[in-house]
Amino acid sequence: MADFTMKTDADGVAIITWDTQGKSMNVLNLDALAELEACIDEALADDAVKGVIVTSGKEGSFAGGMDLNVIAKMKEMAGDNPARGLMDGIMHMHTVLRKIERAGMDPKTNKGGKPVACAMPGTGLGIGFEIPLACHRIFVADNPKAKIGLPEIMVGIFPGAGGTTRLVRKMGAMTASPFLLEGKLSDPKKALSAGLIDEVVPADELMAKAKDWVLSEPRIVQPWDEKGYKMPGGAPYHPAGFMTFVGASAMVHGKTKGVYPAAKALLQAVYEGALVPFDTALKVEARNFVNVLMNPSSAAMIRSLFINKEALEKGANRPDVADQTVRRVGILGAGMMGAGIAYVSANAGIEVVLIDARQDAADKGKSYSEGILDKGISRKKVTEEKKQEVLDRITATTDYAALEGCDLIVEAVFEDVGVKAGVTEKTEAVIPADAIFATNTSTLPITELAKASKRPDQFIGIHFFSPVDKMLLVEIIKGEKTGDVAVAKALDFVRQIRKTPIVVNDARFFYANRCIIPYINEGVRMVTEGVSPVLIENAAKLVGMPLGPLQLTDETSIDLGVKIAKATRAAMGDDYDNDAADEVLFWLEGEGRLGRKSNAGFYAYDDKGKREGIWEGIAAKYKEADDQPSLTEVQHRLLFAQVLEAVRALKDGVLEDIREGDVGAILGWGFAPWSGGPFSWLDILGTPYAAERCDELAKTYGDRFATPALLREMADKGQSFYGRFGEGVDSKAA
Ligand code: NAD
Repeated sequence: MADFTMKTDADGVAIITWDTQGKSMNVLNLDALAELEACIDEALADDAVKGVIVTSGKEGSFAGGMDLNVIAKMKEMAGDNPARGLMDGIMHMHTVLRKIERAGMDPKTNKGGKPVACAMPGTGLGIGFEIPLACHRIFVADNPKAKIGLPEIMVGIFPGAGGTTRLVRKMGAMTASPFLLEGKLSDPKKALSAGLIDEVVPADELMAKAKDWVLSEPRIVQPWDEKGYKMPGGAPYHPAGFMTFVGASAMVHGKTKGVYPAAKALLQAVYEGALVPFDTALKVEARNFVNVLMNPSSAAMIRSLFINKEALEKGANRPDVADQTVRRVGILGAGMMGAGIAYVSANAGIEVVLIDARQDAADKGKSYSEGILDKGISRKKVTEEKKQEVLDRITATTDYAALEGCDLIVEAVFEDVGVKAGVTEKTEAVIPADAIFATNTSTLPITELAKASKRPDQFIGIHFFSPVDKMLLVEIIKGEKTGDVAVAKALDFVRQIRKTPIVVNDARFFYANRCIIPYINEGVRMVTEGVSPVLIENAAKLVGMPLGPLQLTDETSIDLGVKIAKATRAAMGDDYDNDAADEVLFWLEGEGRLGRKSNAGFYAYDDKGKREGIWEGIAAKYKEADDQPSLTEVQHRLLFAQVLEAVRALKDGVLEDIREGDVGAILGWGFAPWSGGPFSWLDILGTPYAAERCDELAKTYGDRFATPALLREMADKGQSFYGRFGEGVDSKAA
């Protein structure tokens, strides 16, 4: 059966229904596009048809977007000229949508033509909103859960099926910018007040309202096809427009630091498109879109942030065991982490027992949820009823007996083996025999902690990042004896709380912290070499890291850095090779400069805690060298420090799937998202060049940059990580 079907009713209204076969939400592929075109052609040619309604056969949604494999298909179909294939494919998409928009009108007089309404039962994203934008009037069912918008920029592309050009011409560049540049999504009412759509109607009146409009003989020509059209807010050479574009250009560069090709290309499409007639603007949009699609960064971002992220969330690496949905979770320790975990669990509808050693501490942990919910109420995102519902799910207590009936425990007490062992024993005495026990430790080996458990196969690590309610990644760690049910339980729990999981094996610092620590250390080490701290910080940000290594150290606290350094040294003995960075951290700690929390660290802060600049004491102790390294040299040191650790984690079997390595790096510690993650970055560089760079860095700076054997072998064979370790089932590194 086709995805698009058409039926004309007795009043002459052709209803085109989109219903992607075998999917819960509509997505557009090339076959479906051809079907849509055939339906439109037929409706326009048929004299019995007075007007058209495009709608969806899916309850509560119009469409989720484009099937991103289409892009790969267009490239493939064009053989050795993929850019041509993309350009032709995209221009064809424009032709189809333009056909809807012109609807048979006379090109000179704009007379004739058939009205086309879009009736959206709910969510319309990406192409699922670009198609409505090409229709003459957009009706949306009053469904507060629906999301409407153009989120393409979030995965490294931009709306390239006319959405960019139409939205800017509809509302002006300035008003369109949050929707295009930030991928802002709106519920129907907000979309209406923003001017994205035309009407919000009760769900059961959606089709009737659209039909009334179609039969009302409305004027259908779009403003940009009228003579004398002026862009709202002014075109680039209008004084107001000039200000918009100068401002937008600076803002985009400030936010993206020039590393995201999509934002720049989008702005270029908008600017150049605004100077020319509509049909030429579509060509300009297409050309910029192709440019972005041909950029390896976009392909890598789509792969990691869309395809692989979704695959992991859907359980790509979940063992094949029965559903393990969590009903009642016991959380041990109501401190910073425990309180956050309690909130996200209760918010997802799970009953929570929140335990602490003292009742006031348990209550304080629960009040953390209250604080977040109150903030939600003040922003009109949460209702009083919802707040009460969530709080009612949390029992704050010191009584371990309350843990009876919990099917999952998440332990978040002090980072101390003895304390953790104590609570493990106490808890196992109460919980059902088949319950799973998880620890949120950030540094202690899971296998070691599992020794306190009578059921080590039911013992696992579930490592959250701080702040729990904001961070999207959860690292699940298998100890030596962890069984499949525990892994499935952890994955099902992470799915329930709507975060992205990666599953790794037990080793020092697991995966995320293992990679981020060398980044910090490399930055701090450079300070001792006389590299300008300002250069270090800016080099990091200009290569897409959210925080420079010195700022990151201040944020996570200098004393934590010292604690980790001491523990690592104790564990590694003679292999430990980080004296240079430690010297700086130990000195700052001695000076009482513990980072943001003490209003003093690598940076100076004012009384209100505002970061001012690098503290002058740094330059007094570590004189800046006259000769400073190049920006690229600093960036390579900072990035290779992380990606080599990721390669070692893969080699050691800590990572089993490079998709998890890439997705985890971006969501866990913000590794240069434009690159698609550490493995994607190495693939963009090419393994031969990456190995060559490592050789050079190792020669100049030391063995920590030595090319790992796996990378050397791949470089010799000219292999890429995604080529060798593939995707899907074959992605296991083993
Ligand atoms: P915290 O000090 O804020 O909270 C620990 C809580 O555990 C305190 O409220 C304490 O009263 C309680 N507690 C201690 N002993 C207890 C016992 N015997 N019974 C019941 N409650 C007890 O610490 P935190 O930052 O929330 O960290 C908790 C765990 O999470 C640690 O293992 C830590 O390594 C890990 N972790 C922390 C972070 C982070 O960024 N802070 C990130 C990931 C993981």
